[in-house]
Amino acid sequence: MKAARFHTHGGPEVLRVEEIDDPKDIPPGHALVEIRYASLNRIDIHVRRGYPGIPIDLPHIPGADMVGVVREIDPNTDTDIKKGDRVLATPVIGCGYCRYCSNGEENKCSKWRMLGFQVDGTYREKIVLPIRQLVKAPDYLEDHEAGSIPLSLLVSWRALRTLGGCKPGDTVLVWGASGGTGTILVKLAKSMGLNVIAVTRSEWKADKLASLGVDHVFIKGREDISKRAVEITGGGVDLVVDYIGAETFNDSIRAVRKGGKIIVFGVESGSNIDLNIRMLYLAHATVIGTHTGSRGELLDALRFISRKRLRPVIDRIYSIEDVVEAHKYFEAYQHFGKVVLKTG
Ligand SMILES: [Zn+2]
Repeated sequence: MKAARFHTHGGPEVLRVEEIDDPKDIPPGHALVEIRYASLNRIDIHVRRGYPGIPIDLPHIPGADMVGVVREIDPNTDTDIKKGDRVLATPVIGCGYCRYCSNGEENKCSKWRMLGFQVDGTYREKIVLPIRQLVKAPDYLEDHEAGSIPLSLLVSWRALRTLGGCKPGDTVLVWGASGGTGTILVKLAKSMGLNVIAVTRSEWKADKLASLGVDHVFIKGREDISKRAVEITGGGVDLVVDYIGAETFNDSIRAVRKGGKIIVFGVESGSNIDLNIRMLYLAHATVIGTHTGSRGELLDALRFISRKRLRPVIDRIYSIEDVVEAHKYFEAYQHFGKVVLKTG
């Protein structure tokens, strides 16, 4: 089967499409899935470049998202997933036994493993996964849409609902709203009845965000966004979703209302800043760090979007053969929405 993988860390050009052996055995409790689509996430870029201090086995196959069809399944496992079902995979799996896993918080498990990070991912034609990692794909979504959503939907749901506790009428500020996760997050926020202030870096992306129905769109660098957010809301936003990090975090504190929350699940612009702690406590602000999410949250999020018939924004579909081009395009921030890989 074909797989896109890298043998050394580096730029997009280290990715190679190679023939590798088909999976041979289906261990107890596992299934063989023929992958149709995978999608690109920022984590794929970090893993390809190499996380300082987090070694991974090489060669390595990136990819946290997938949709595919179950071709073989352990017949002795009692499950409602059958041969021929169209499935997604939860990006994260835990040990299943620790205090966090027992509470359905496998993303906090000390042995957590994410597809495409600690273990080989989804940029390939076939994969063997534990059945407990599989989830039926929503019927109303096309293959390329379904394959683009797991990780972005999961982190968005966790930020807005699980941790943000958002209620209809609340206002959320989203930095970097035009990427794969940003576009799902703002569409999810609108379908929850939230007011959305979205920030992006260019005019054409601002126009596209407006067409998604967001309430206010700002272009970074053109005005004082935290000040405008406070003006618009008459005191500050209820929630800020910040995965940009160093460049935006102080503005996130300035934008939040008294007692508001800032959810942090990424640091695209760097992780170290000068922080005025006084600003935080005078704002009674809560800063919540998180990453990924649980199987239970993905199931809840999928139920919600199925009721709302919410569709992800797909920017481009690349063939797995063009994975280098796909990574170059993604890293240049030219996309609006998800960039998808056709694997099969
Ligand atoms: Zn665990």
